[in-house]
Amino acid sequence: MNNKILLIYTGGTIGMVNDPVTNSLVPLNFKHITSQVPEINNFDCQIDSYEFESPIDSSNVNIEFWKTLVSIIKQKYQQYDGFVILHGTDTMAHTASALSFMIQNINKPIILTGSQLPIGTIRTDGKENLITSIEVALAKHFNKPVVNEVCVCFENKLFRGNRVSKVNAEYFNAFSSENYPVLADIGIHINYNESYFLKSSEKTPIFNDRLDPNVAVMKVFPGMTNQYVNAFFNIPNLKALIIETYGAGNAPTDEWFLELLKQAEQKNIVLVNVTQCKGGSVNMGQYETSTYLKQIGMVSAHDMTIEATLTKLMFLMGNGATGEILKKAIEKPISGEIY
Ligand code: ASP
Repeated sequence: MNNKILLIYTGGTIGMVNDPVTNSLVPLNFKHITSQVPEINNFDCQIDSYEFESPIDSSNVNIEFWKTLVSIIKQKYQQYDGFVILHGTDTMAHTASALSFMIQNINKPIILTGSQLPIGTIRTDGKENLITSIEVALAKHFNKPVVNEVCVCFENKLFRGNRVSKVNAEYFNAFSSENYPVLADIGIHINYNESYFLKSSEKTPIFNDRLDPNVAVMKVFPGMTNQYVNAFFNIPNLKALIIETYGAGNAPTDEWFLELLKQAEQKNIVLVNVTQCKGGSVNMGQYETSTYLKQIGMVSAHDMTIEATLTKLMFLMGNGATGEILKKAIEKPISGEIY
């Protein structure tokens, strides 16, 4: 039994039970999960666990949570062949993106998984997701891990972590990665699409937990008011504003709107253009309705997900990038999050 996997339990539906008083789902401890999945004892490996003191619904994920997660992986990194993180689905894409920036140069798998139905329920998807994630984390090729990046494993697919979004609150296939191919199709066999993988790093891993929260996300919508837009620019200490635009990066061309964006640029607030679409890319200049944004100095998130853009900004700003340096850095790949 040479291989060692660390299972990190943070919370999420997978470990939840119904609270009879409130009749809503609340997280329970890790023993509850392992007792429901005795199959994990059949793996020919050592599986250790680390349980967050108070498991959370992932709606409560915050920067402190990410720092804790990074520090656990940092402490245990050399001792284990791979990591499986049990996490709620609501912000799994955010956490996967954040980890992909905060932990770089890795040569082993960090797999996030969870479920849509609690593990104690008869039709749960949690058992299969957990077992498959462990199998992926254990996969080796010539004695080296097959996967060397942060991934999300969910309902028969392995995704690059910073390329997924949660797209469905009902069906088991809750995640999609519209702008990057799946890393593995999981059926009777696990078929790895190795040409899409990040390469195993020869360098020393970097654990970097500096994140700056001074970023905001503004969605454009038909009928938005001057007051709505203005409110964002009155946020104290705001360093970057992600603007979720239409289609290929288009936004209204009302003068008051463009004027507010110009003023923000002058105040050194970095404006980042992300599309509201789940697939495709921002292409400023394709339509006149985005040409102005480009002229003002807005930077393109290209084909990044909103989750990756947000956490990348926090990471870059946390590490001192502002203004023009931040604009250049946001368009440069860190961990395969952008084409
Ligand atoms: N609210 C839950 C969470 O994100 C949903 C889930 O896990 O599926 O923790």
